[in-house]
Amino acid sequence: MSTLEIHQFPCLDDNYGYLIHDTASGLTATIDTPEVDAINAALKEKNWSLDFIFNTHHHHDHAGGNLELKAQTQCEIIGPAADIDRIPGIDRAVGEGDTVMLGNWVFQVHDTPGHTRGHIVFHCAEAAVGFVGDTLFALGCGRLFEGTPEQMWHSLQKLLSWPDQTLIYCAHEYTEANARFALSVEPENADLVARVDEIRIARAQDIPTVPTSMALEKRTNPFLRPHSSNLQETVNLVGQSDVEVFARTRELKDNF
Ligand SMILES: [Zn+2]
Repeated sequence: MSTLEIHQFPCLDDNYGYLIHDTASGLTATIDTPEVDAINAALKEKNWSLDFIFNTHHHHDHAGGNLELKAQTQCEIIGPAADIDRIPGIDRAVGEGDTVMLGNWVFQVHDTPGHTRGHIVFHCAEAAVGFVGDTLFALGCGRLFEGTPEQMWHSLQKLLSWPDQTLIYCAHEYTEANARFALSVEPENADLVARVDEIRIARAQDIPTVPTSMALEKRTNPFLRPHSSNLQETVNLVGQSDVEVFARTRELKDNF
């Protein structure tokens, strides 16, 4: 029987690196290339060799190690077609509706513009995991550097269609700061209040709060909850559209 093994490790200041490995074929991919030395150390620790890079977006803490790792390992780089000019070394350009295989594991690719215009995510339904880069965070979402709130809300709805048990592997440990903001806009959400206590305890012991799950984010992440009456009241948009409430929430977070 084949297993999809996921090895998570810290990189840079607050990034997470991920190696994913199919035990049947022995194939290994890294999700993005935040830090070459940390990725090589993780490969060595697991005794895996690198076959693929799956890139989510062009930012340096996601694609900065591409060429060095490719030169070292001859791995194939799979990245967003929309950003083929900004991501070094792409061998295979993919977008919405495409699939990427790791052994027999199928990853569905979705375009999720907003944080950057070419951002993509990788969802493996069979393993119930999603690698979401800087689109969704535990209790947060990516800053809108290159996209509109409308685009980002549309992107997040693709993730919201994934099953509740889907584990969400985001690219940063931002959860404690996100929690402070989330509480400020949805103070009456009992699930959120309970989660924030758990987060503080975990972070005080340097325990990762990632991966999270779609179910937990739906209950507590303000960027997925524009329908919440408590949130609508706090941001002064009672009865307004989801995208308006999302846009205001994102704007408040930018200035928090
Ligand atoms: Zn980014």
